[in-house]
Order: sequence, then structure tokens, then C-alpha cells
Amino acid sequence: MATNRTFTMIKPDAFSAGNSGAILKMIEEAGFKIVAMKATQLTPAIAGKFYEVHSERPFYADLCAYMSSGPIIAAILEKDNAVEDFRKLIGATNPADAAEGTIRKIFAKSIEANAVHGSDSDENAAIEGAFYFSQIERVG
Ligand code: ATP
Ligand code: MG
Repeated sequence: MATNRTFTMIKPDAFSAGNSGAILKMIEEAGFKIVAMKATQLTPAIAGKFYEVHSERPFYADLCAYMSSGPIIAAILEKDNAVEDFRKLIGATNPADAAEGTIRKIFAKSIEANAVHGSDSDENAAIEGAFYFSQIERVG
């Protein structure tokens, strides 16, 4: 089951710009089914826990401040080959490098405020989904 799921966040820049609906439309049109979804706002501490893997990177403090700066949408998505296909749909981390037609190319403002998160492995998709949602909050 986990191999067909990924986890995403619509980040504060995209949420505050009113792009959540357009991004979710792209996600659904690409064949992803929403399995769980909620709007929430992270505290700096919770953002720090989510991005703990980056705690040694120079941008970590800014990233935690940014990710807790406003509301986000967190969601679990289902599709065959979900992790890889979703990374293709969102495009490169830096929107300047993202392919035409990708979510980051269209909506991201910078390498940090890059509109969406997408899990980088099946294992992290399961960990990240469980970070936000209990089993009873998910469809199926
Ligand atoms: P995400 O994990 O959010 O899907 P990603 O896997 O493409 O993004 P990561 O290397 O995991 O990229 O970085 C996590 C996040 O940290 C990026 O999405 C971006 O918001 C921020 N980030 C990454 N690199 C930089 C950088 N050089 N300067 C500022 N922020 C950065
Ligand atoms: Mg990542």
C-alpha cells in the first residue's frame, strides 16, 4: 500500500497566494487520489521536527521559520508509482530549474518558497503521512 502513496504539503507561499485550488486541480488531473487532507499551521518546533533531516543544512532555520509562517495544506495522495510520478509533477526544488508545466515552475516563488513538498521515497512517504494523519483520518 505504501508503495502507491506519497505525501504532499501546499506550502505557505502557495496557500497565501490563493493557489491551493489550482494546485489540487493539477494533482487530481494527473491521476492522484486524495486519501487524507487538512489545512493547518505548523509551529516552528513542529516544522523543525518535520525537516529534521535538514538540520545541519545552512537553510534549516530559515526553512523552519518559513514553513511555520502561515497555513499549509497537508495531504496523502494515492496513485501507481506515486512518489516518482509526484516528484515529476512538482519539478525541481529550485523553480528556475523546474521543467515547463510543473507545479513549481508555475507557482513557486523561490528555491525556499517553492509551493509544494513531495516525499522523496516510499519510506519517507509513510513516515511523513503518519506525522500528520492517524489511520482513522485516511480513506481506505
Ligand atoms: P521538499 O522536500 O520540500 O519536497 P525537495 O525534496 O525538492 O523539497 P529538499 O532538498 O528536500 O528539496 O529541501 C527541502 C526544502 O528546503 C526545499 O523544498 C526548500 O523549501 C528548502 N531548500 C532546499 N534547498 C534550499 C536552499 N539552497 N536554500 C533555501 N531553501 C532551500
Ligand atoms: Mg525533500
